[in-house]
Amino acid sequence: MRIDIISLFPEMFEGFLSSSIPLRARKKGLLELELHNLRDYSTNKYKSVDDYPYGGGAGMVMSIEPIDRCISFLKSQRDYDEVIFTTPDAPVLDQPAANALSLCRNLILLCGHYKGVDERVREHLVTRELSIGDYVLSGGELAAAVITDAVVRLIPGVLNDETSALSDSFQDGLLSPPVYTRPPEYKGWKVPEVLLSGNDKLKAEWRYQQALSRTKERKPRLLDGIPDE
Ligand code: SAH
Repeated sequence: MRIDIISLFPEMFEGFLSSSIPLRARKKGLLELELHNLRDYSTNKYKSVDDYPYGGGAGMVMSIEPIDRCISFLKSQRDYDEVIFTTPDAPVLDQPAANALSLCRNLILLCGHYKGVDERVREHLVTRELSIGDYVLSGGELAAAVITDAVVRLIPGVLNDETSALSDSFQDGLLSPPVYTRPPEYKGWKVPEVLLSGNDKLKAEWRYQQALSRTKERKPRLLDGIPDE
């Protein structure tokens, strides 16, 4: 998969891209990620990329021209499945959306800043909008990093143990059951007996029941459409 991120602060991605799963995906050749500094696409001699809002009001607005030039350049190189704008007023990224995006070949992620982008960018250049939650960030960089991470770990081959992503919360409509590791007892706090037994069937049943009760308790909406026990 190839992801092109358009941003005014591409340096914000450095730590994120050079560690953990995104790094592993790049090393394995499963992810090509390119950062584009919007200022490089400004024709203005001051390299400005924003301007005052028509109609007044506080804050600056990102201009359409550099964004259009950058997206047009990228589109001249290859076809994109989606041009995604990160914005708090869009549907919130969820696991089904991440699953669907992980099947794409080429994606553009556009990060907003200041008051956001000229509305014409959203009307004419963007094919999809995503939020990462009902709160306002100062820029779309963290949102783009969150979307990238959620999607990249689902690309087949990125995680070593394929079943690891499949058994995560949400993948089967349930939250993940609790997990434990050694020692079996710490300060008198014990690992559930069943997990120490050799009975795989009982362990699997325990994990399923835990996932179910945890989902009922914490996120019952996930159970809509799933038949009761
Ligand atoms: N004036 C806008 C917020 C602008 S915040 C409004 O009230 O809706 C600046 C930029 O940060 C946005 O353009 C967007 O790209 C990004 N951003 C802020 N919060 C976000 C969120 N919850 N999800 C995704 N992107 C977000």
